[in-house]
Amino acid sequence: MGKKVMGRFAPSPSGRMHLGNLFCSLLAWLSAHAQGGEILLRVEDLDRERCPEKFSRQLEQDFLFLGLTWQEGGSLGGPRGPYFQGERSGYYRELLNKLEAQGLVYPCFCSRAQLHSASAPHASDGDPVYTGACRGLSKEEIAEKALSRKPALRLRVPNEAIAFTDGHYGPVSQNLALECGDFILRRSDGVFAYQLAVVGDDGAMGVTQVVRGRDLLSSTPRQLYLYRLLGLAPPEFYHTPLLLSPEGRRLSKRDEDLGLDALREKGLSGPDIVGRLAFCAGLLDRPEPARPQELLPLFSWEKVPLEDVCLPKGLF
Ligand code: GLU
Repeated sequence: MGKKVMGRFAPSPSGRMHLGNLFCSLLAWLSAHAQGGEILLRVEDLDRERCPEKFSRQLEQDFLFLGLTWQEGGSLGGPRGPYFQGERSGYYRELLNKLEAQGLVYPCFCSRAQLHSASAPHASDGDPVYTGACRGLSKEEIAEKALSRKPALRLRVPNEAIAFTDGHYGPVSQNLALECGDFILRRSDGVFAYQLAVVGDDGAMGVTQVVRGRDLLSSTPRQLYLYRLLGLAPPEFYHTPLLLSPEGRRLSKRDEDLGLDALREKGLSGPDIVGRLAFCAGLLDRPEPARPQELLPLFSWEKVPLEDVCLPKGLF
């Protein structure tokens, strides 16, 4: 028998979760439980200044309102904590040391304007491909630049295609040097980067299955490269389509009329919302109330669309 599936919720409490976050969390919950697995909750408050504590507290209540339970993490704690990224910097520092010991990390003094200059080629996710301007700085140049500017730290990437098979979208391949460039491990303000933290944490917490929005599909090759360098076992990845507003816009934490408070004020219950999300995910023919547990026998990744899903007008 294979290892027990460990899925996860990894919300960033920079605002209240929106329906798109909850859509993805519902699929993560169903996917893990359909395989007899569990869920852990890790709060991705890396940048504590942007993550007020009230949102960290709120997100647990939002999950519970929908019946999206977890077995470990968040305020439940557990053996592999802390489960708040804001409390894990010592661990991220160790990860960085491992990469530094391999000679793969260098300081980057480029300003935002330099990075976003018109000539920089752009990757599929819209971010500029790093040109490598600071890749070959000498010790003297580094010392001189450091007098006037705090550097970010970047990881050297190979001119190599990293390929994997997404559980939902199928084969994906990306040449890191050409399509992404050397990427940031720690920002110039000292905050560790999402890519490093998420790999270190999923690796250390025994996560075997990652389910998240397809906006992170193009981050996955970078993450697989980090798994390799850090000697951690990578999970399986399933990316989900994004949930869009009825007008076809990406949902954001500012869409308050589609926030849980507004929906609760309209009198919608947890099962009302879960059923409608399951309808959007192709699991129900009609948007009727359902609890996550009741959806388990209906769940299969084949039913979930590949195209992003526009919320039908008037559904919420
Ligand atoms: N914390 C990220 C977010 O809320 C998710 C990261 C991940 O699932 O890898 O968008």
